[in-house]
Amino acid sequence: MTAATPAPLGTPIVRPIHHSAAYAFETLADAREVFAQRASGFTYARTGNPNVAALEAEVARLEGGECAVATSSGQAAVSLALLTLTGPAKDAHVVVSSRIYGGTVDLLTDTLADTGLEVTFADPREPQQWEDALRPGTRVFFLESVANPLTELPELEAIAEIAHRNGVVVIVDNTVATPHLYTPGRHGADLVVHSATKYLSGHGGPLGGVLVDTGSFDPTEDPERWPWLTRKHHRWGDRSPVEVFGARRALLGVARCKYLNDLGPCMGATTAHEILQGITTLGVRVERQSATAERLALTLAEHPAVERVHHPRFGDPRQQQLRETGSYRGVGGVFSIDLKGTPEQVEHAVNSLRLIKLAANIGDVRTLVAHPASMTHCRLTPEQFRVSGITERTLRVSVGLEDEADLTADLFQALSVIAPAHAPQPRSASTTAAH
Ligand SMILES: *Cc1c(COP(=O)(O)O)cnc(C)c1O
Repeated sequence: MTAATPAPLGTPIVRPIHHSAAYAFETLADAREVFAQRASGFTYARTGNPNVAALEAEVARLEGGECAVATSSGQAAVSLALLTLTGPAKDAHVVVSSRIYGGTVDLLTDTLADTGLEVTFADPREPQQWEDALRPGTRVFFLESVANPLTELPELEAIAEIAHRNGVVVIVDNTVATPHLYTPGRHGADLVVHSATKYLSGHGGPLGGVLVDTGSFDPTEDPERWPWLTRKHHRWGDRSPVEVFGARRALLGVARCKYLNDLGPCMGATTAHEILQGITTLGVRVERQSATAERLALTLAEHPAVERVHHPRFGDPRQQQLRETGSYRGVGGVFSIDLKGTPEQVEHAVNSLRLIKLAANIGDVRTLVAHPASMTHCRLTPEQFRVSGITERTLRVSVGLEDEADLTADLFQALSVIAPAHAPQPRSASTTAAH
């Protein structure tokens, strides 16, 4: 377009994708200020990009947080959070929920354990276990707001109170609940992590992660405990991260400018764009998925092939109470069932599903089942397996947006290999789209 051509009226509704690795400066003086972190700006897309920044701002807003860093996957978000809080400490110890995503168990007990990090597991329904696990070096409590795959709800407020009394930072993985159903920052979480691959994206496409700082952690309240955030260092131009980024942004400043920059698990512009598009429908998706999951859980509880349904609807009175009064707008689209029958029959039932796919993912608009013992949690030790509550007969269901009657019919025809039962009659015509 030449200078003489008038600019067309109208601006795009959807933000354009900024596919640029590097960002140009007018002057060397401008570049020098941004590179030295004395002025804000994009330099190179490993540490920031306009689409990624828009996603970070949106997830921070949804979580009621101070700021956020997006990453290449949920694993990267969890890794960055743990490295920033424990990496430089010689005596680092974390207490972790025993009901947790298998990838997080691998990260903590294998990869980060190799670096000297020590881990104790505790039941998220038993705050006393968290208190008992404390050591002088404990820096982090890590738990999930709705546990994957058994859908248990944690005693977050009581656990966070123990943490904050002892100078410990609380990280909550809010992947299953999503900020639409639950905001951990209002109940004591200092950091919130997401696998954006799941409900935030919602359509089973890109991998992504987000790490949100809720703004409650201030390392200057106990500077000796967090010297890598509060002391001057040549990395930060002989200033401290607190001086460079501010007390409440020092943690994510270091996560981005040190760990994301040095290790490189950054999110791409197209991925950020797709996840932001997904977030525009987050509320309607998770409300429907949560409601369908609860009704399917109720229907399956009556099925003769089902031994047990894992959903807070069927939990003990305290789980019911947390679900009703714990500020959850729903518990999400994931639940699990323990089947009756032999392992061969369970396998046959899984292989008999037609509409529902066998895949290790959750949060997709398509309903997926997984067999955690063979898939997501296959590397757990026998002891970890025992405390996880998962068995060889546990199936996880992640409910999509198909018609409930079609899902019921598919589950019933598959479960008939264990024990036949009649599917309830559909209430209305199917609206399930062909895949
Ligand atoms: C999938 C998942 C992760 C890991 O996220 P990726 O995007 O697969 O790396 C972490 N936590 C929970 C609860 C998850 O479901």
